[in-house]
Amino acid sequence: MPVPAVTPASSTQPGTESGPAASPADGAVVLQVPAALPSSSVAPGPSLAPSPSPATATSPIDSPSPPRAPRPPIDWAAIERRCRAILPARGVVAARQELLAYDCDGLTLHRWEPPLVVLPETTDQVAALLRLCHREGVPFVARGSGTGLSGGAVAETPALVIATTRMRQVLEIDLPNRRITVQPGVINSWVTRAVAGDGFYYAPDPSSQVVCSIGGNVAENSGGVHCLKYGVTSNHVLAMEVVLPDGTITTLGSGLAETPELDLRGVFIGSEGTLGIATAITLRLLRAPASVAVLLADFTSMEAAAEAVRGITAAGILPAGMEMMDRLCIEAVNDYLGAQEYPADAAAVLLVELDGQQEEVAVALELATERCRQAGARTVRLAREADDRARLWQGRKSAISALGRRFPSYYLQDGVVPRTALPEVMRAIGELSERYGLPVANVFHAGDGNLHPLILYRSDEPGVGERVQALAAEILRLCIAAGGSISGEHGVGNDKRCYMDWMFAPDDLATMQLVRQAFDPEGLANPGKVFPTPKSCGESARRRSEEPALAAVAVF
Ligand SMILES: Cc1cc2nc3c(=O)[nH]c(=O)nc-3n(C[C@H](O)[C@H](O)[C@H](O)COP(=O)(O)OP(=O)(O)OC[C@H]3O[C@@H](n4cnc5c(N)ncnc54)[C@H](O)[C@@H]3O)c2cc1C
Repeated sequence: MPVPAVTPASSTQPGTESGPAASPADGAVVLQVPAALPSSSVAPGPSLAPSPSPATATSPIDSPSPPRAPRPPIDWAAIERRCRAILPARGVVAARQELLAYDCDGLTLHRWEPPLVVLPETTDQVAALLRLCHREGVPFVARGSGTGLSGGAVAETPALVIATTRMRQVLEIDLPNRRITVQPGVINSWVTRAVAGDGFYYAPDPSSQVVCSIGGNVAENSGGVHCLKYGVTSNHVLAMEVVLPDGTITTLGSGLAETPELDLRGVFIGSEGTLGIATAITLRLLRAPASVAVLLADFTSMEAAAEAVRGITAAGILPAGMEMMDRLCIEAVNDYLGAQEYPADAAAVLLVELDGQQEEVAVALELATERCRQAGARTVRLAREADDRARLWQGRKSAISALGRRFPSYYLQDGVVPRTALPEVMRAIGELSERYGLPVANVFHAGDGNLHPLILYRSDEPGVGERVQALAAEILRLCIAAGGSISGEHGVGNDKRCYMDWMFAPDDLATMQLVRQAFDPEGLANPGKVFPTPKSCGESARRRSEEPALAAVAVF
């Protein structure tokens, strides 16, 4: 299927490669690019021309990547010298003991030490680095805070890791238009911190929000507690300055809510670093709600808590957030917080946040409490004051860390199921956990049907890695069989690429590859991620062809 050449709306002239561009002045707020990243400030750039189409109708494992001539070996010592000419001395990490800090992300099951890491501070420096990569045929991997849970920010094959941890400036705050523009390394929770005093906030709030970066959020299209009502990252990004894999700087989106062009902004969000590097992001700000209340209901079974989720949505209430935790999580959190914050003997707790105008919240509270009781809630606790609400949420937000203290290793999955299938799926996960002899804790965005089963294990147990992965794969097959998906918000990365053909036909995968090639004809940006390859998935594809068909797995 031929893809038309697409010309970006705008493009700046790339910066010089011979030396670093001037760093922004020190200070919390630096005006560097306008909030809306308008096209008038930039000159036209090259087109996003696609490379020739690959065949589309063969196996999904064989078809998506067109055959490429093998790249000559990379002289990493020479690349390091070139990077040192672009960046200040502190911007190049080449010492072995320092590179080890970049050998994995939040998925610690597999590790690959990168050959070289660079820490640019400006868009021009990122552009110079990508021009270098393009000219020398060097693959690169963008990296934010490294909290991703799908192995997206790692150099599985030798690649230059470009980390944005020194790109942490708030570039512009535009309250009249409810926008803020930040560099990609800015931490998620800093955005709200920058505007909270004026009564605004940034809605997407991953549980990792005190450490994860906005660039990583964009690349993963991250969700969070409040995404049930307010939408995920994609609903809150108005425009982006992006450096394409050939080093061209361009703008995607216009900073306005609606624009007539092809939505390349939407294409980039969730592309997991495979289309280029975002270097400035304009985000939508929301007014803080007039009234907020949080309910904590506890249940004697996960099924009953799932029933309450069904009841609350059936009553026509749209909570700001609706999160569930099972007994393993409750025990770990109480232990971590050193208090009986959640009822210790509960099999499940449900946290429901309601916000809006005072009267609206009062009515919703009454209805939600009633639905929880109808589903079998033993107690329903209400928190209205900010401190009390924060205490109730603290346990949920620290659940994964709390589990990490009790169990040395975990493997966290991210399947999605329709809300109506929650009780059956929770029961089936429990059965799988017993069959594999591995504890599975559940803490998740119940309102979205976005499950986060954490498989807990000891990495020094022989053969445990394979068992953990096999159990995770079965859980994801369950999700698909229930009409769901293999990923809700953590992305595919290298972790789930071999499951992509469970959800997508060969033509779908090939079409996605065509889009990727339109941005990155050389295949340099985050190679090996998202799409199945013969090397990474050939064996698993063969194995899966011997497994029962999905229909036979269905338990519904
Ligand atoms: C305890 C814990 C809780 C979590 N809770 C949630 C949650 O509730 N919701 C949720 O959605 N996720 C959650 N996550 C996952 C993770 O925090 C998110 O995926 C987050 O968006 C990753 O951001 P990061 O800065 O760490 O990105 P990284 O891990 O560094 O990178 C993630 C991906 O983004 C790409 N990337 C990074 N920066 C850029 C850029 N500037 N331009 C282009 N590509 C880029 C990388 O190549 C990689 O593919 C959680 C993780 C942990 C450890």
